[in-house]
Amino acid sequence: MTYDCVVVGGGPAGATAANDLAKEGRHVLLLDRAGRIKPCGGAIPPRLIRDFAIPEHLLVGRAVAARMIDPRDQRVDMLVDERRRTGFVGMVDRDSFDEWLRARAETSGAERRTGTFQRIERDADGAAIVVYTDRRGGAEQRVAARCVIGADGARSRVARAVLADADRMPCVYAYHEVIASPPESDPSFDRSRCDVFYQGALSPDFYAWVFPHGDTTSVGVGSAIKGFGLRDSITQLRAHEGLDGCATIRREGAPIPLKTLKRWDNGRDVIVTGDAAGAVAPASGEGIYYAMVAGREAASAVGAFLRSGNPKALRRARRAFMRAHGQVFWVLRIMQYFWYRNDRRRERFVTMCEDRDVQKLIWPAYMDKRLVYAQPAAYLRIFLKDMRHLLQTAGGSR
Ligand SMILES: Cc1cc2nc3c(=O)[nH]c(=O)nc-3n(C[C@H](O)[C@H](O)[C@H](O)COP(=O)(O)OP(=O)(O)OC[C@H]3O[C@@H](n4cnc5c(N)ncnc54)[C@H](O)[C@@H]3O)c2cc1C
Repeated sequence: MTYDCVVVGGGPAGATAANDLAKEGRHVLLLDRAGRIKPCGGAIPPRLIRDFAIPEHLLVGRAVAARMIDPRDQRVDMLVDERRRTGFVGMVDRDSFDEWLRARAETSGAERRTGTFQRIERDADGAAIVVYTDRRGGAEQRVAARCVIGADGARSRVARAVLADADRMPCVYAYHEVIASPPESDPSFDRSRCDVFYQGALSPDFYAWVFPHGDTTSVGVGSAIKGFGLRDSITQLRAHEGLDGCATIRREGAPIPLKTLKRWDNGRDVIVTGDAAGAVAPASGEGIYYAMVAGREAASAVGAFLRSGNPKALRRARRAFMRAHGQVFWVLRIMQYFWYRNDRRRERFVTMCEDRDVQKLIWPAYMDKRLVYAQPAAYLRIFLKDMRHLLQTAGGSR
């Protein structure tokens, strides 16, 4: 028996791809190694909730504001929706969120198996044979596929098996502790606000966060610098924020890719998507929405490939993704390069976030993944202020 497609990895990217293909009537196998909850802050934008029909019950928290904290501990609060006060950033727990996505794919007709992908072999005709083990040290299983989607996350084994530059993908290493939230009655802890710390002492090249998820909270940090003490940062942050007395439920970490791969397919019958393809927003490390969009594009490209038999159809996925998000990723990469370089720049960055015009640009860009073109005057003001900040920074000692 040959599957139309074997999807390796049942995170947001793989589960979305499997669901879309199964809904089209394709014969799909969704293979996931299971056994580990994906380490993640779990913040998702409303656009994701709408576009991927996520039910309310998966939202364990709603943040109506973000607080940006600079190296001097100056705090800037940004309300998501100042006028109507209805906007929010959704919070999901990845164990229930990912499982729900996989179950939806199964309901749509995908077959699910638990197993760890090992490699791709070829049969006498050159067709792909996916080799996996169903448990640690277990016997190898083989399934034949007309096409393979690698959605097995950062440092993807599928990507490294078929794409030359996958080994060299730069990553931020992120670590978080899931803790019990302080009681609702505690006035010093706001369950409806996400805190983001731009402080060199916590992270010299990224940021740290406190994201409440109802009764639990993710306290995390990222850095691409090898050997940087991420755990020490979190100990320091928890003590500073009065969260050191809260019970620690889990400690875990994982890499976040920093750059999209130049190619997502092998020109034959394998395509990678989501973190495996590096489809994560630079500067913020936001990856759930982009994984689901990339998973959808991969499914659409695979559908075209299965219909036509032309491997060139696989290229469409990356092209469509970059057309929609490449510009934003480019801007965010420059932003990360410039504003996260030292504490002086971080101070200026947080000061800029106080600006109403900047907030009017940032929130729709995050919440709805759209740039608000309707306010050219505001853009001009932001441009001029940004230039002033840049010149002041460049003209200063650092
Ligand atoms: C600490 C941390 C905090 C983050 N916070 C946020 C946040 O708040 N908001 C946000 O949008 N993004 C966040 N991200 C990024 C986000 O988690 C990822 O971008 C997103 O999960 C990518 O989805 P994916 O489906 O591509 O990969 P993953 O979610 O990594 O899923 C990969 C799947 O593949 C499976 N798998 C792996 N290897 C194999 C194998 N060999 N065989 C079979 N199956 C395999 C795994 O079990 C997993 O289910 C965070 C990341 C980290 C590390």
